[in-house]
Order: sequence, then structure tokens, then C-alpha cells
Amino acid sequence: MKGREAVPHDDPAAAAPVRAEVSAPARGAAQAPAGNVAHAPAGDAEQPSPLIAQYAALKRRHPEALLLMRVGDFYEAYGDDADDLARSVNVVLTSKEAGKGRRIAMAGVPHHSVDNYLARLIARQRVVAIAEQMELPAPNRLVRREIVRVMTPGTVLEEQFLDAGRNNYLCALAEAAGHTALAFADVSTAAAAVCITRDADELAAELHRLTPAEIVVADEQAAAAVKALCADGCKITVYDPDAAAAGEMPAAAARSARPAPLGLALEEKAAGAEALSLLGSYVESLGLDGAALLRRTSVHSARSAMMLDPATRRHLDLLSGSGENSRACLFNVLDETKTVMGKRLLARWLCAPLVSAAAIRQRQDAIAELCARPAARAELQARLAGIGDVERIVQKVRARRAGPRDLAALRQSLCAAQSLSEALENLSAAELSAAREAVRSSVSADEAGRSLLARLQLALVDEPPATLADGGAIRPSYDDGLQQLVELRTRSRRLLLALEERTRQASGLRTLKVKYTQAFGYYYEVTRAQADAVPSDFVRRQSLVNAERFTNAELKQLEADILSAQARQTALERQLFEGLLQAVDEAADQLLAAAAGIAQADVYCSLAQIAAERRYVRPEIAAESMLAVHAGRHPIVEAFGGVDFVPNDCGLDASQRFLLITGPNMGGKSTYLRQTALLSVLAQMGSYVPAQSARLGIVDRLFTRIGAGDDIAAGRSTFYVEMAEMALILRRCTPRSLLLIDEVGRGTGTTDGLSIAQSLSEYLLSLGDAMPMVLFATHFHELTALAHFYSQVENMHVLVADGAAGPVFSHRLLHGASSRSYGIAVAKMAGLPPEVVRRAQEIADDLESRSGPASTWARHDEYGKEVEAGQLKLNMR
Ligand code: ATP
Repeated sequence: MKGREAVPHDDPAAAAPVRAEVSAPARGAAQAPAGNVAHAPAGDAEQPSPLIAQYAALKRRHPEALLLMRVGDFYEAYGDDADDLARSVNVVLTSKEAGKGRRIAMAGVPHHSVDNYLARLIARQRVVAIAEQMELPAPNRLVRREIVRVMTPGTVLEEQFLDAGRNNYLCALAEAAGHTALAFADVSTAAAAVCITRDADELAAELHRLTPAEIVVADEQAAAAVKALCADGCKITVYDPDAAAAGEMPAAAARSARPAPLGLALEEKAAGAEALSLLGSYVESLGLDGAALLRRTSVHSARSAMMLDPATRRHLDLLSGSGENSRACLFNVLDETKTVMGKRLLARWLCAPLVSAAAIRQRQDAIAELCARPAARAELQARLAGIGDVERIVQKVRARRAGPRDLAALRQSLCAAQSLSEALENLSAAELSAAREAVRSSVSADEAGRSLLARLQLALVDEPPATLADGGAIRPSYDDGLQQLVELRTRSRRLLLALEERTRQASGLRTLKVKYTQAFGYYYEVTRAQADAVPSDFVRRQSLVNAERFTNAELKQLEADILSAQARQTALERQLFEGLLQAVDEAADQLLAAAAGIAQADVYCSLAQIAAERRYVRPEIAAESMLAVHAGRHPIVEAFGGVDFVPNDCGLDASQRFLLITGPNMGGKSTYLRQTALLSVLAQMGSYVPAQSARLGIVDRLFTRIGAGDDIAAGRSTFYVEMAEMALILRRCTPRSLLLIDEVGRGTGTTDGLSIAQSLSEYLLSLGDAMPMVLFATHFHELTALAHFYSQVENMHVLVADGAAGPVFSHRLLHGASSRSYGIAVAKMAGLPPEVVRRAQEIADDLESRSGPASTWARHDEYGKEVEAGQLKLNMR
């Protein structure tokens, strides 16, 4: 337990110590308050003490938030909020005098560790309001307090609560004139965008692409609808700007009309403007600058990116691995970025592969140039490594939450950006030239001929303190007034040393020293033994075990001079610092454009480095819907699998549109399917691909039906989930889509399962020209007969050899069908007891002997050679 520090207390009712400890956060530490303790909202207490009344008044401004109010060295919560705080972060729940003998529940956390507690509350999707003391505490007077910050999961700006490598999106959803609009912004980095979604599937896909931290809707009905579409971990906030404006919320919360951004169709404008208005009003209600956020709103089209439904994103391990190794994902294969802005952009590109061949080729050109010039790439990367998080610093400046070290990081970043733009001069790819122009604008001179960088260099000391509280952040040479104050302090300090020496000589006390503490200011200190020999004008201030502390008139005067010079210096530095913040504010648009250029250069370097190191090739983007991969590899298994990866070919075009893949368990079928999907994602995000050569047509939608998983909480069994995913695929696929079906119909009886699998295949094959590209892996060997009836079907199988110790998997895919799954052999390898394996083999032999000879089919090549054979057991129409 930690003792409460002595502070002047401003709550007369709390003059008697009521609580002295905050728990070490041990589990179950929260305890019930004793006696007659009020738990009603703090404001309900009859004639509450001034402090509690102040808390209640502030709470009314943000009733939805857990209010933490600074009281001395603690942040405290009362009433229900105290219960809530104690339970949420596991601190002691106690009570406080609330006036007229009543007590109210209280919990608190020390100010120096408040960030830890805030991080935990934000991670639990809580909204937290912070009220600070706006003046120095004085005994028996209520300090003025104001809410200075309301933190919600989607509006956090402080880097300590954010993942540097990922965007943190806030979304707002609105409907108008029959259209649904999704407005979104990463409040910590840049401007907002709006997107019109055509239906619930498209909205769900967009929400999964963004994985927002928070979604704002205007009413409960919309909240219920959006909840069904969102992943866990997203806070859904109901905020009605009109109701908020009518209540006690800040005036800024009133709904302010937003012009619909250019680029929306006439009939979409109302919905777009409504969603942006909701986003802006909500941000403003939290005390942030909604107007700045919406100043450069862009229009995003869900159709400008390959559509990846939520299940597909999960199955492909794009941003995190779903297996035991959560690092095994495509992002980590590709990430050699040097800046956090590059990291975030890489994640965004991965989640939104392009569908414009021209845009893809532009990205490829940039990578090609950086692959061909490794020395130039290394040079760029060295310069990128010196660049900090310009985007988040700019947003912190806009919200006036930036400190001296943020501006020092910006100065360092601008310096590195200047040398980056010089290094980019020698490169000619269009995308790299555009990045160079954007970066150059940030270091150009203003009208007065001085760049922001030059100003920061002149103004800020080399290593500034974390806060402005004690001064010392601004170079004295930056301002004449500051120079004078600093000289005054230096002179006073010299006088202090002289006084110490003079007093020591005059008194003969050799141990006498002048010392300083924040609580007591300056004082003479002598040892206990010499305390009686101090000069007569000394006044005792404090007795310690081994020392005595004194002051006198001369020391008091000097102290007053020093402290007043210090206070004036701090005030002046604050003013000068505000000037720097304003300069950054004015350059914000160029800085954000530069940040975008830096991020792009970084991602191109990263993709080029990976292409060179991992032997990726530039895929040719074809106009038609096709796929021709020679010796393709799975990027994640190759990087993280610890195996010598066996490359495989894959070919799909107008005449061969349905690959039916059979073969043993553990043969590599799923790997082959996912690898094909990942190659498409990589190619369309502009990257090179792991293959010897690749020619790929644009895929507009990628669907996967992989593995078995239930959703018991939503009342969906494993088989139901499988069928629901298949239903979505059939409803949504287009002729330019790529479908990966890894087993379907396995979660039910064999007859039903086989029938469904065959019927689904027939349905897809009957689509004719409208048929998507399909890769279908299955253990229903009966389906291989489809190739006999449909020319678009090509059978593939995984080669397996019968070794002495069991099957040997080559992971090599060949044309033709396979008739065995080697399930029992794999079960034996996996460690099933020998008696179970033996018995399984007996049963299998018996079943096979009873089923009788199946009629066989065969397909021959143009020379009459048999290339495929299978058992004809299908019931064909
Ligand atoms: P099942 O039918 O049992 O689901 P499967 O045929 O889908 O099996 P996969 O899961 O794709 O088999 O692969 C099994 C293992 O084989 C993987 O864990 C992977 O490490 C390895 N593997 C797959 N393909 C290759 C390959 N081309 N080269 C090297 N190793 C591979």
C-alpha cells in the first residue's frame, strides 16, 4: 500500500483523511465500502460537499463517460463511477465524506500512473473523461476544475494507447434517401473519407477492412443492426447530435451541416453528408477539431478494391496468423518498412488490393526501379529510418496535446525527410516522383523565407524536457525576453552560491549548505550537532533526524527572485511554444501530404527488398479473367513454415475454369488453394509474387470456404456456418471472382455431403460465361467424374508415394485424379493407438469389398494417351 502524498486539499469536507491508500492492483482487491455509503449518481446526494457537487456538475456534461477528476496527486471517481473504476481496473473501493454526515463511494488512481489505468479502460472499450485542476490548490478553497479530455476507443490520440503499426478507425454510419453511407477517419493520423455501401455484405466487408475501434450511430435500432456486422472489440456508440445539443453537452456538439463531398452521385449525397455530419459532431462533442478532420474529406469506393469478405480475411492470415504462431502472416512476410507510417500503409494496401490494372502497374514500376537499384534503395531506407510518426504528431499538435519532445521528433523527421527527398531525386518511376514532390513541399520555405524545420531548429533545445512545466525547452537565443530571464536566473544562482559561501565563512559552520526541494523551496541545511550555533537571524523551517533546515531574509529574497524569474520564463516559453504549434498547424496539410509520400516510399522500398531477398517476380497483369502461375509458392509457409517449399503450377482460363483437387490428407491441398489466393492479393496490391513467372487477370472478389468452425454464441453449428458461407459465395460471386472451396459438405452425413458438393459444383459449372474461377479441394473422390461431363473441369491431384514406413508426401500437384485419401495412414502418423488404426483398416477393407467394382471413366489426350481416370459413381442428370 502506498501512502497518499501531503497536498493542500481544496475540499473542506475532506479535510479529515478519509482514505489513504490505493491498492496495488491485485486481483480481487476491490472491496465493498463500509457503512452508509451513497451509490446513486454523485449528484443525487442532498446538499453534497462542494467537491462532490463539482464532480456531479462535470459528470452531467458527459454522463456516458467514467469521470476521473484530479484531486491533489490522485484522479478520483465517486458514486457509481467509483464502483465502476474499482471493478474495471481492480483498485480499492472506499468512501469519502459527501456532506451532512453522508459518505459516498470513492476510488482513485495515482496521477503518475494514470496512463496505465487509462490504457486498460480504453482496451475495455470504455469512455473516460478527465477533469484537471485549472488553478493551483489553496487551503479551504474549491479549486476550479474542467474536463480537458474525453477519451473513447476511436478518438485516442496519445501514442501510449495506440498500436503504432495500425490505423485506429472511428466510423459513423447513416442512412438517407435509400442509401447507406459509412464515414471513417483515423483521428490520430489524417482526414476523413466517406463510402456508400450497396448492401449489408458490402458494409460488412468494409467494416472488416477497417476494423474500427468505434462506430457511431444515431439511434439504438442502427446500433443493433451494426452490431451484427462487426467483429468483437469494436465499441458501438449511440450519439444523437440533436439530443446532445438540447442537453448539457458542450455547444460544439450541435449538429453542423457538412457539405457532401464531391465525387458522390447526386442521390448519394444526402447519406454521405449525414454520415460525415455525425462523425464531425461526435468528434467535436469530445472537444476535438471536427472541422479540421473533415476539411479534406475524400470519397472511397468499395468497388475500387478487391472485395474480401470477413471469413476470407481470416482464412488468408493477412494481418495476423490464425495458427499457433500469430506472427505467421502475410504482413510480417512483407514488412521491412522503416517508419510506422509505412507500416500502417502496408497494412492498408494488404487489406485493399487494387482492381485497376493501370494503378497496379504504376506500383510495380516503382518496385521494379528499386529492385534494379539496390544501392539507391538502401540509401532511401537509411534516411527513412530517421523519420518519426509525422501523422500522429500533427494530429496531436492540432488537438494541442503535443509536448516539446513531439516537436523535437518532428524536427528530426523533417531533417531526415529533406535528405529523403534529395535521395528520391535520382529515381524516375512516377509513384516515386510523386512521393518526392510531396516530401519536398514539407521542407520548403514559407512566405517569410523560413522553413518550419529552420524555425524548429532555432527554437527548440537539442534535447527538450518532456513537458513545459519547468521551462528549458526553448533556446534562450530564440527570444530576447527569454534570454534576459535566463540570465537573471543564472545571476541569481551565482548570488545563491556566493551567499552560501559568505554565510558559511561568517558563521564558521563548515557543513552549511543551501539546498532546494519543490515542497520547501530554498533553505540552509546544517547537521543536528551544529544546529545551536546558527546565526541569530536564522529561522527554523524543519527538523530531520540528522539535520536542521533554516531560512533568513536574504535567502527568502533571493528565492523570490529566482522563483519569479522561473515562473516568468515558464510562462514565456509556453507562449513561444504555442507559436511553434501554430506554425505546425499552418503547415499541417503539407506535413500530412509529406507523411503520405514518406509512407509510400517506405512501402515501395520494403516490397522491393522482399522481392529481391525472396526471389519474387513481377506478375503480368492480364486483361482477361485468368491465372497462369509457374512454380508458385505459399509466401507465409515459405517464410515461417521451416520446410523446403515445393513450388507448384496453377492454370485457369476461359476454357479451364474449375480445378478439382484430390489427394491425401496432409498432401498440401489447402496450402495450394491459399497460395493461389495470396498470389492474387499480392499481385493486386502491386507487389511482386513468389513464383517463377505469373500472369494474372484482375480478380474483383475473392472468396474462401475453408476449414470448420462453429459460432455457437450466434446459434450457428459447424455445418450451418459452412452452408452459410457457401450461400454467401454463390450469391455474391461474379465472372471475375476467384472461389477457393476447401472441402464442402464434410460436416454432415456422407450422402447428404456428397450430394451438396456435387450440386454446388453443377450450379457453378452451369453459369457458363458467368462462371467465376474455382479451385475446389475435396476428399469426395466421386466428384472427379465431373471432368468427364464438363470440359471446364480439370482434375488435379497431389502426388504421394507408398514408402515402407507409410505414405511419402511430395506436395507436388499433377494433372489427373486421385482415388485415395490415406486418412488411416495419416491418423497413424498422428499417433492414434495401434489397435484403433488396425481396426479402422479392417473396416475400410470390408467396406471396399462390399461396395463392388465401380464403373470407371477415362479421359485421353490428343494422342489417345489416358491422362485421367476415375470411378463413375455420380448420379448425373
Ligand atoms: P487435409 O486434407 O488433411 O486438410 P491438405 O492436403 O489440405 O490436408 P495442407 O494442410 O495443405 O494439406 O498441408 C499439410 C502440411 O504440408 C502443411 O502444414 C505444410 O507445412 C506442408 N506443405 C503443404 N504444401 C507444401 C509444399 N508445397 N511444400 C512444402 N510443404 C508443404
